[in-house]
Amino acid sequence: MGWESGIQLKVLVTDKVDEKLLNRLRSMGMVIDYKPGIQRDELLKLIDGYHILVVRSRTKVDREVIDRGTSLKIIARAGVGLDNIDVEYALKRGLVIINSPNAATYSAAELTLTLMLMLARNVHLHIFDVKNGKWSKGTYEGVELRGKTLGIVGFGRIGRAVARYAEALGMRVLATDIIDVSRYANELGVKLVSLSELLELSDVITLHVALTKDTYHMVNDDRLRLIKDGAMIVNTSRGEVIDTRALLNHLDRLWGVGLDVLEHEPPREDWEFKLIQHPKVIVTPHIGAETVEAQGRIVEELVANIQDALERVRNHG
Ligand code: NAD
Repeated sequence: MGWESGIQLKVLVTDKVDEKLLNRLRSMGMVIDYKPGIQRDELLKLIDGYHILVVRSRTKVDREVIDRGTSLKIIARAGVGLDNIDVEYALKRGLVIINSPNAATYSAAELTLTLMLMLARNVHLHIFDVKNGKWSKGTYEGVELRGKTLGIVGFGRIGRAVARYAEALGMRVLATDIIDVSRYANELGVKLVSLSELLELSDVITLHVALTKDTYHMVNDDRLRLIKDGAMIVNTSRGEVIDTRALLNHLDRLWGVGLDVLEHEPPREDWEFKLIQHPKVIVTPHIGAETVEAQGRIVEELVANIQDALERVRNHG
């Protein structure tokens, strides 16, 4: 497993990343093969011989990919979620996994607020009508977020950033988490409650958990039944956290739903298209981290973490 520092590192990048990341890695003396959108078959054929694999959320890095990459030392995820990587197996194989967990926090939180505010005022419906020549004033009455209760599921980096923004809007904020987040809750004046209480009490529910075995379809039909009529749901975490087919059955009694993530991206099932077409639903195409600032930070954070990982691999490899 040893790694001499003279070796020229070969990097395979299989998703679209900022050009600056490629240039920074080149300036560190690495050879980069940039193949955004590469299909799985080609990836399996190609992966052997590369030392570093850089992905975003599209590329599935499972056991087969890891096994074929006999020279692989580092898997770098340009972004936060590691749900597309078999982390447990990669670690067992002695690989180092890095990501850029802080880079997109504020971009994802701002998009969450955008979806909440758009839903509250039916902005999506007005935009659609006005663009199609209909002056929709008087058609869709909105609501204020001020004075409403926001329930944050997953009080991590993004959940806490959303709490800060919600406070500025005059919302009462509840949160739930599986780890002890009481220090942050006290700091931010947020009340911690159980998931059931949160679903029952909130006017707006926003999801900020990572996708794991436990959070897959966490918002299922039973939990959707707890949510009050006229509430909003916003999800900028991972599509699979909500059972989308169950959600369809609740749309009539909800105020609206804002989603940046779907169970399949791009969507492919009839029930996903039904959801997207529904007037109460706003869908954006997974753009939570797509800002100039977040992409810039991803480059900086990832490069620093790759440098760190290289040190570790060289010292202990
Ligand atoms: P984080 O790890 O800081 O926070 C996640 C929180 O969820 C943690 O506090 C964790 O304890 C909690 N949690 C886990 N399982 C839970 C459960 N069953 N019930 C309640 N809480 C639970 O992560 P973050 O930086 O806040 O990001 C959250 C997620 O947002 C990421 O995992 C990623 O999937 C997603 N994300 C999406 C975009 C986008 O483009 N839309 C951008 C960035 C992040």
